[in-house]
Amino acid sequence: MDKLIITAAVSGSAPTRQQNPNVPYSPAEIAAEALRCWRAGASVVHVHVRDPQTGAPAFERAYFAEVLERVRAESDMLVNLTTSGFNIVAEDVGEARLMPVSLRPDLCSLDVGSLNFRGRVFINPPEWVEKASERMRQFGVKPELEVFDLGHLRQAADLASRGLLAAPPYFQVCLGVPWGAPADLDMLLAMHNRLPAGSQWSVLGVGPRQLPITTHALLMGGHVRVGFEDNLYLSRGELAASNAQFVERVAQLARLLQREVATCAEARQILGIPPKP
Ligand code: MG
Repeated sequence: MDKLIITAAVSGSAPTRQQNPNVPYSPAEIAAEALRCWRAGASVVHVHVRDPQTGAPAFERAYFAEVLERVRAESDMLVNLTTSGFNIVAEDVGEARLMPVSLRPDLCSLDVGSLNFRGRVFINPPEWVEKASERMRQFGVKPELEVFDLGHLRQAADLASRGLLAAPPYFQVCLGVPWGAPADLDMLLAMHNRLPAGSQWSVLGVGPRQLPITTHALLMGGHVRVGFEDNLYLSRGELAASNAQFVERVAQLARLLQREVATCAEARQILGIPPKP
């Protein structure tokens, strides 16, 4: 079994300090959370940026660049910048969403497929998905294929079969987002059984499903994503003080289950990503 890659999704675009006062907003706070997670065993940080004062979702190049620079200055952690770009107002939203790729992070998320996403519609047209994967190839950025349902996985498999994704394809199986696929073992197995041969995969579960679904992945040889983007509570009624608490818990579980946690260098090797720039 491969060593375990732990991704910390430290802020997302939705959680607020009204919900949990420990949600990081500014680039410096986001980077500090990433580094706490790195010390606890995370090898990847998934980054959204926020307005430093209000915490409103932002998509400023300078904010992404600052997080990237701060994390790279102090660690060998892999940085994964989002391209989901909710709330972007631009003439060409699809193009604006690809701005983070040009900063040459190690990875960018690539949402394959559209769905009803909480109270809105998350639109990822087929032509945008192809454009995004091509742009990531151009800049040497590894796509993390976010799939929220089985059809998304089929579309990603089609990209892989046409040679549009560098090996190994890397999936983030996103479970439990209303109204994507539910975060249960049946669904995880259904997704897992349909991954293209040779894929690497990670799973996230929303809210109280984060702990059980990531534990299943530990046993199945998958990787895991934890953090405030998906879950604010360590246990029922107990807010997490830091994203690092989730990372510590999953690393501890991995040790108990005799699954080794990957270093950042090992995570690069597993995902086919070149050494730290
Ligand atoms: Mg995200």
